Amino acid sequence: MSRFWSQVVRDLTPYVPGEQPKLAKLIKLNTNENPFPPSPKVLAAIQAELGEDAARLRLYPDPNADLLKTAIAKTHGVTTPQIFLGNGSDEVLAHIFMALLKHEQPILFPDITYSFYPVYCGLYGVAYQTIPLAEDFRITTADYCIRPNGGIIFPNPNAPTGCLLPLVAVEQILQANPDSVVVVDEAYVDFGGESAIKLVDRYDNLLVVHTLSKSRSLAGLRVGFAVGHPALIEALERVKNSFNSYPLDRLAIVGAVAAMEDEAHFTQCCQAVIATREALTAALQSQSFEVLPSAANFIFTRHPKFDAAELAKSLREKSIIVRHFKLPRIDQFLRITVGTAAECKALTDALREIIG
Ligand SMILES: *Cc1c(COP(=O)(O)O)cnc(C)c1O
Repeated sequence: MSRFWSQVVRDLTPYVPGEQPKLAKLIKLNTNENPFPPSPKVLAAIQAELGEDAARLRLYPDPNADLLKTAIAKTHGVTTPQIFLGNGSDEVLAHIFMALLKHEQPILFPDITYSFYPVYCGLYGVAYQTIPLAEDFRITTADYCIRPNGGIIFPNPNAPTGCLLPLVAVEQILQANPDSVVVVDEAYVDFGGESAIKLVDRYDNLLVVHTLSKSRSLAGLRVGFAVGHPALIEALERVKNSFNSYPLDRLAIVGAVAAMEDEAHFTQCCQAVIATREALTAALQSQSFEVLPSAANFIFTRHPKFDAAELAKSLREKSIIVRHFKLPRIDQFLRITVGTAAECKALTDALREIIG
């Protein structure tokens, strides 16, 4: 605290990102990165962009990153005016809160969800109401179909539970809220869900958010996007062009294009993560862990006899890091990223030693 801080900064409660340890050799299962490297075509594209003429970095990138919009449009069967790009989907989400979710009425999101949402509400002064997940940690669709609201946002699959809301339920929420923007944060949808992008032509109140950080193995490049009606996209462009006109640098643009175009690599990595997730789930269940059904690249699990914080601490002593949230309802759970098969085996071996 300092006398130079603005009132806004004094009142903030910032998001706390998962640890990015400086130590090598840790098995890192705490922030849902992909265990596989990105497509080799990403590296080739970045090297080519630097290539003979690194002097190109003198010049600003394309402020609209049209090459990337075109690649995303092709992949998802939409048009470029339906696409908004940002420096990671966190930036896209920030602009959404300011541009489309700040209204008179409070917005709605689950009590257990991505913990950045209340942070953006604090930053932009957006009123919100949390809706409790059901006992089994699923979203109750009807809860989002009865209340007047300033907008709705939820991840699908939800984080940190991994639970998927079927697309028909998403559509019910869209139909019940024709006068609210419904934001579906699909950071993990490629690991087992069906994307709501196929609904954007039918619902002008739908905005779907994707990231290249998880399923495309590019958390380090910082690229995310939103897909929705051109009028929603225009609102986001207005905020972006009042904040930072060049959110994606030259290397991010060409790297992201290459990642979107390498469908084979993408499919193969997602399938491998899904297969490992199912094997990990079975292995943990055989050690008496309860595992919520996950459609994501992480699992949410608790042991009936062992305290979650203690387990996380013991794993850390064995150089394995997982995520524990000291929050109501979920403080006995661990969120574990699906790593490689070898990493997951190291995890279950370590747990066997810890719980005996
Ligand atoms: C990881 C994650 C994001 C942010 O992704 P970036 O594109 O890396 O900023 C957004 N929403 C949810 C639910 C996530 O888990």
